[in-house]
Amino acid sequence: MIKLHDLYFKPFISEQEIDQAVQQMVDVISKDLGDEMPVFIGILNGSFMFVSDFVKKYPKPCEVTFIKLASYEGVKSTDDIQRLIGLTQDLTGRTVVILEDIIDSGKTLEEVHRIFKNENVKELIIATLFYKPEAYDKDFKLHYVGMEIPDKFIVGYGLDYDGLGRDLPDVYQLKTTQHMTNLVLFGPPGAGKGTQANFLKEKYDLVHISTGDVFRYNIKNETALGTLAKSYMDKGHLVPDQVTIDMLEAEVNRNAGANGFIFDGFPRNEVQAEALDRILEAKDSEVSAMVALEVEDETLVNRLLERGKTSGRKDDSDEAIIRNRIKVYYNETAILKDYYSAQKKYHGVDGIGSIEEITVRLNKVIDSL
Ligand code: AMP
Repeated sequence: MIKLHDLYFKPFISEQEIDQAVQQMVDVISKDLGDEMPVFIGILNGSFMFVSDFVKKYPKPCEVTFIKLASYEGVKSTDDIQRLIGLTQDLTGRTVVILEDIIDSGKTLEEVHRIFKNENVKELIIATLFYKPEAYDKDFKLHYVGMEIPDKFIVGYGLDYDGLGRDLPDVYQLKTTQHMTNLVLFGPPGAGKGTQANFLKEKYDLVHISTGDVFRYNIKNETALGTLAKSYMDKGHLVPDQVTIDMLEAEVNRNAGANGFIFDGFPRNEVQAEALDRILEAKDSEVSAMVALEVEDETLVNRLLERGKTSGRKDDSDEAIIRNRIKVYYNETAILKDYYSAQKKYHGVDGIGSIEEITVRLNKVIDSL
C-alpha cells in the first residue's frame, strides 16, 4: 500500500503485467502496419513511460513525438481539456498512431480528433494501454487496447494524483475505504490481552473483537454456534477454523465504518491468519501490526487460577486445562510470530509489570506504526 498526498493506493497491475501488455501491443501493431513508417504520438504527461517502453520494443523504424493535453484535476476527469503543446510538424499523408496511457471518459480523445481534423493524415490510429469501458461515453474507435480496467482511479506508470505517482513502475488503484489500523493483539492465555485491549480501543478508537468473548456470548445465549463452540472450549481445544473464521468475518462486517480493529484471540494459527488477510483485503486494508504480550508460563498459570476464582470460567479453574491452553498456544499459535515477523509486523512487548506500565509500552509501539 502507498500514500500519495492524503489518499491511499493499493497495488493493482504489476510492472511485469504492464510489460507483457505493452509487448503484445507492439507485436500486433508492428504486424498490422507492415512496412509503413508510423509517427507515434504520445499524449503528455501520462503517456511518457508507455511511449518510451513501446518505442524501445518497436522492431522497425518509426518517428516519435508528443502533444500535451491536460484533463485531470485531482482524481476527477474534467470537461475542460487544455491544449498545452500542440502539433509541431506537418503530418500530411502520414500514418499516425496515438499512444495514450489511459482512455477514460474519452474527452481527451475527442480533443485529439479535433486536432487531427484538418491535418490530412493518411490514417489516425488510436492505441491505449489502459481502457475503462464503463467510463467511456464516446463513439471514437479504439484500434488497440492493452488492458481493460474497471472504473477506478489509478496511479503509477506515468499516471499521477496531483503530481505524484508518475514515477512508479507498477500501477496502483485508489483505495475506496478509509485507512484502518488493525492490530492483532497476541499473547498466551492470561497475558492480559483483554485488559489492554480495553485501553487500546478507547485510545485509538478501534473496535475490539475477542473471539473468546464472542463464543462465550453465544454460549450464554444458547445459540447453535455457542453449543458447538462449548464442546471444544470446555476442553481447552480450539474451535474448528471455518466456524471461527466465519464468525470473525461476520463481526468485521458488522462494523463496516470502523477506524480499525483489535483482534484478540484471533488469528490463532496460520489458516486463520491467511483468512484474516483475505477478510481485510476485501476491505482494502491489512493487518498493521501484531503486538505480542510476552509473559512466562508460571506467571500465566497463577494469574489464570486467580481469575478463575471470580470469573466463573470453567477453562480458568483447572490447572491441567490451563496448561493445555498454554501448550496449544505455543504449539499452534506461536507459529504466527514467524508469519508476522516475515512481514516485519511483529512487535514483542514485555507483559510483566503493572497494567499502566504495560499500556505505556503498547502505546509506544502503536504510535510508532
Ligand atoms: P480466549 O478467551 O481467547 O482464551 O479463548 C477461549 C477459547 O475460545 C479457546 O480456548 C478456544 O476454545 C476458543 N477460541 C477463541 N478464539 C479462537 C480462535 N481464534 N480459534 C479457535 N478457537 C478459539
